[in-house]
Amino acid sequence: KIRTRYAPSPTGKMHVGNLRSALYEFLIAKHAGGDFMLRIEDTDQERYVEGATEIIYRTLEKTGLVHDEGPDKDGGYGPYVQSERMKTGIYMKYAKELIDKGEAYYCFCDKERLASLKTEVVDGKEITVYDKHCLSLSKEEIEANLAAGKPFVIRQNNPKEGTTTFHDELYGDITVDNSQLDDMILIKSDGYPTYNFANVVDDHTMNITHVVRGNEYLSSSPKYVRLYDAFGWQVPVYIHLPLITDENHKKLSKRSGHASFEDLIDQGFITEAIVNYVALLGWSPEDNREIFSLDELIKEFDYHRISKSPAVFDIVKLRWMNGEYLKAMDFDKFYEMAEPYLKKAISKPLDLKKIAAMVKTRIEVFPDIAGLVDFFEELPEYDVAMYTHKKMKTTAESSLEVLKDLLPILEAQEDYSNDGLYQALVKYVEEKGCKNGYVMWPIRTAVSGKQMTPAGATEIMEVLGKEESLNRIRKGIE
Ligand code: GLU
Repeated sequence: KIRTRYAPSPTGKMHVGNLRSALYEFLIAKHAGGDFMLRIEDTDQERYVEGATEIIYRTLEKTGLVHDEGPDKDGGYGPYVQSERMKTGIYMKYAKELIDKGEAYYCFCDKERLASLKTEVVDGKEITVYDKHCLSLSKEEIEANLAAGKPFVIRQNNPKEGTTTFHDELYGDITVDNSQLDDMILIKSDGYPTYNFANVVDDHTMNITHVVRGNEYLSSSPKYVRLYDAFGWQVPVYIHLPLITDENHKKLSKRSGHASFEDLIDQGFITEAIVNYVALLGWSPEDNREIFSLDELIKEFDYHRISKSPAVFDIVKLRWMNGEYLKAMDFDKFYEMAEPYLKKAISKPLDLKKIAAMVKTRIEVFPDIAGLVDFFEELPEYDVAMYTHKKMKTTAESSLEVLKDLLPILEAQEDYSNDGLYQALVKYVEEKGCKNGYVMWPIRTAVSGKQMTPAGATEIMEVLGKEESLNRIRKGIE
């Protein structure tokens, strides 16, 4: 049975990359009828952010990525929080097993000594390559140091010769020279395991079959494989996901302003559209289809179709997709979500439901509402030049004439429903023997103060009501 895990570090908001990992892990498990597990990786005490664990729970719940096991759902592999696992002594026990096998060793080097070591550039990052100084300590020296309470770390003992190969489902076989593998720290001086060590121990002891994560971990994977081999454990299936970039092909970061799930929600995107869009950040189905519910994704998600090339986070595309979701949304649900935005833009006692129906198919995100409906609240300043429209064959003069003609008709009109008004205007059109637009255009621009509106002249007047509509038409004639 496939078992995947989402293993976030509680360091703040839910980054889009994290959400994608969680989603793909969920989909890979569910597609195969497997289990999806949540493990909290909180061993980096310096990066821990209060409240971040709650964000993780909330986001998984909101997005529908329901975990089968986790800190709040025991499935027999607990504890599911690394700081709690540490208290059971599990990491130290396995680290000592590696020491006994000669695959790891105590290191007592202090800061000063480490600072004096030469650095090397690996993957564009400057790292200190440990010189294996403490590997040569005698058993007695180690015992004495430990007895004296000297601070220590435990390091992996990697060979300097030979190569290590590991397999990734997307990248294939990757072989590196062992000379590139530094003796990474497994247990830190505060007694906590590093991510590098804990992920191996946990994935193995929690029976994880498929490890899905960002490709920033690709370069460390040979070291993890060496740990699995040292223990004699089976290496899980690795699936490293492509980088997510912003529109400028730079790594998606806080600076882009839409790097986290919370940012996107704040910007008025809806959860279903975000999940759908994030699914396509690196994966595509055979048939270029783009709109998927979560259930449909479960059915379609074949991880072999994940791409290796960077995925560009295209906010324009997400906006389009969000708009598609809003169009397809049930009206009552739409209204419930749109109401706060409508209320913010309109304080007058107008029929907000009618206005919501006007904008439903015209917006991409809820904040677009304000710019579309602001004229209901207050007639904007405009110029007679707005009356001129080539296709409608209207000019400022023709429009003023039409408005003047219509004013007494509309004053006498009792029925201010959309239909009633429409009939009255069409009657005038027929008498005049002109095209509809020749009349509707000046009316609509006069009552809205805009050339672009989310509805026609008579729909707008119905919402504004007789008094306000007439006020606006009178103003249009002035
Ligand atoms: N705690 C790691 C992170 O948040 C998890 C990486 C992994 O999935 O192995 O990046």
